[in-house]
Amino acid sequence: MKLWKDLKAQLFEDECALCHAKHKEPVYPPGGFSYGEFMLRNNSNNRLLYLNAMEDPTFLEVSNLVKKNPRLNGLKESEKSEVFQRVVGKAYDSDEGQYGIGTFPMCVVCGSSEVESYKEIIPPEFINIDVPVATSEKWQKLTDEEKKNLIDVWISVSVIDNHKNTQ
Ligand SMILES: [Zn+2]
Repeated sequence: MKLWKDLKAQLFEDECALCHAKHKEPVYPPGGFSYGEFMLRNNSNNRLLYLNAMEDPTFLEVSNLVKKNPRLNGLKESEKSEVFQRVVGKAYDSDEGQYGIGTFPMCVVCGSSEVESYKEIIPPEFINIDVPVATSEKWQKLTDEEKKNLIDVWISVSVIDNHKNTQ
């Protein structure tokens, strides 16, 4: 059963760094989300999922596994939470690509995810959207050991990605 969340969302305009096409994407409700609410964006089709972390066991599980991962030994809490934000979206079900918190929209013209600028439209524009509630059926079928190993893989990939971005 698929649940949907009815949202009024504010639009941001992003400009592609490669082809300079501009397009508008819903970002969050006017005034922002309540604590623990997120919108996840898919990196290959811009689809959105709604997540209420307070009602979702996966979010907490991933958080605990990230904190315990030995690769993060010696990092500050703020750095650990950055890593967590980069990996948590991967635990949610997706037909293609992966979901992420704070994932920049992909350019609808050329497919690039490099963003030249990404900003609020002034005066603000809004859209009413129905967003599917995030599910994590695949994740929930894994054993504890599989979950722990998968988190380790995601962290190692995310550290490499991050390194690439800084070059
Ligand atoms: Zn483009």
